[in-house]
Amino acid sequence: MIDARHRAALLDIVGEKGLVEDRQAMAAYEIGARYDRGRAALVLRPASTAEVSTCVGYCVRERIALVPQSGNTGLVSGSTPDAGGTQVVLSLDRLTAVFDLDVDNRSVHVDAGMKLSDMNARLEHSGLFFPIDLGADPRIGGMLATNTGGSRFLRYGDVRKNTLGLKVVLADENGTVLDLLSGLRKNNTGVDWKQLFVGTCGAFGIITECMLNLEPVPRQVATAYLVPSDGAAITPLLRMMEERLGSYLSAFEGMSGNAMSAALAHVPSLRNPFRNAPIPAYVILAEVSRSWQPRAGEQPLDAVLETVLAEIWDAADVPLANAFVGPSNEMWAMRHALSEGAKHAGRLVAFDLSFRRADVMAFCEWMKSELPSRFPDVAIIDFGHVGDGGVHFNLVVDEARSGLVSDGFETRLRDWVYSVAIDRFGGSFSAEHGIGRKNQTYYDIYTPQKTRNLGAGLKRLISPGRVGAVRFG
Ligand SMILES: Cc1cc2nc3c(=O)[nH]c(=O)nc-3n(C[C@H](O)[C@H](O)[C@H](O)COP(=O)(O)OP(=O)(O)OC[C@H]3O[C@@H](n4cnc5c(N)ncnc54)[C@H](O)[C@@H]3O)c2cc1C
Repeated sequence: MIDARHRAALLDIVGEKGLVEDRQAMAAYEIGARYDRGRAALVLRPASTAEVSTCVGYCVRERIALVPQSGNTGLVSGSTPDAGGTQVVLSLDRLTAVFDLDVDNRSVHVDAGMKLSDMNARLEHSGLFFPIDLGADPRIGGMLATNTGGSRFLRYGDVRKNTLGLKVVLADENGTVLDLLSGLRKNNTGVDWKQLFVGTCGAFGIITECMLNLEPVPRQVATAYLVPSDGAAITPLLRMMEERLGSYLSAFEGMSGNAMSAALAHVPSLRNPFRNAPIPAYVILAEVSRSWQPRAGEQPLDAVLETVLAEIWDAADVPLANAFVGPSNEMWAMRHALSEGAKHAGRLVAFDLSFRRADVMAFCEWMKSELPSRFPDVAIIDFGHVGDGGVHFNLVVDEARSGLVSDGFETRLRDWVYSVAIDRFGGSFSAEHGIGRKNQTYYDIYTPQKTRNLGAGLKRLISPGRVGAVRFG
């Protein structure tokens, strides 16, 4: 609950449309994408950078904690309030007015509350798109704040690589607005300040406008399912594809048989691509794409892919057990349904890990052999962006038998998986989802003290107010 004086002052800034206090209406802002439910004191929905600035300045002066929220699709409990009922959610969902396309610069300037799907729909006529692709529909500010990775990282990189500029409201007593909205691609004049706000989950300020790099929409796409001969064959297979396809290779995504089976069981529109045969233990979805229309005399892209697969098939130590080119929409529908399948397979304990590329499958294989003896009531449903070293290592826990909730089982499981991933395999505990309440403990454990001191110093200097769920100090 919020003090009546604060409520009146905030209402004055955002007006009736910008303030949500009805418990039922607030629920949408209190419940996160995965097992995440908090209680907000109030939800603010400012409609401009100026309103965000006035709200933030007021809340910092009055020591009111703010949680920025965009699409609320984050997976680490960063965008929802905690259970205390004192935090104010600052939603960016009304910040959608600015849309300014610069075709010559291949860039777009948008308000941070715009949804990814809406922005790409408005860009369609220009033949350009924002090349970050994922199975959710976040808002652009949230994408910058978490530095979203996605399925085509291999070709286009992450959000950081595709951010040309931004505008941000600092969490200080004035709600200072910092305009870093340059559309320049080259600007070598010292510190690249905008990067402080990309991937830092709102701790250093609230992003209100974004300047993004755009890429030509692919005009030719071909996809294939590749069944590797075993886990160890996946990195050699990736290298062979990269050598032969260069920048045409736009995705190299891994799907375990367990993940595909869960998706088939829970998403009725999917079809088993292996017909009546058993689903293989692991399948790679490989995509190649070109941004121009097919030209007369040019080998079609699916033929290029087939030629390359035939070459690999003929190589010594062939890393393939099976491979076939197929319809892109069906193949991607399977890939994008894996999250949904895993979610319905049982109680999930999810890990968003990354490794040096050759270590992804080594980690997964090691886990397959060691996990059952240590945690017998847990099944692995893994999939991920193996082409760039990422894996969504999902564990489905038998709730009744493991005593998941009652005896600290989840903490023991998390501690063990992270220690293997980080200490043994040199990986990261957050590949692409950022930091929130769910993984703050592991930030504290695995971040060197000197780095944490630096984080605390920057926080004091830039945005001393209580904003966001993450503590970098
Ligand atoms: C089915 C599914 C698939 C997914 N696949 C991927 C994937 O492939 N790759 C990937 O990287 N992620 C993936 N995600 C995670 C999620 O979609 C991304 O992290 C996304 O970028 C979050 O954006 P959002 O708008 O939903 O932000 P939110 O969830 O609202 O917020 C995320 C964090 O950013 C902060 N924040 C939000 N807006 C702002 C702002 N304007 N200024 C400052 N801080 C802000 C919040 O406080 C929070 O800490 C997936 C999620 C789902 C549910």
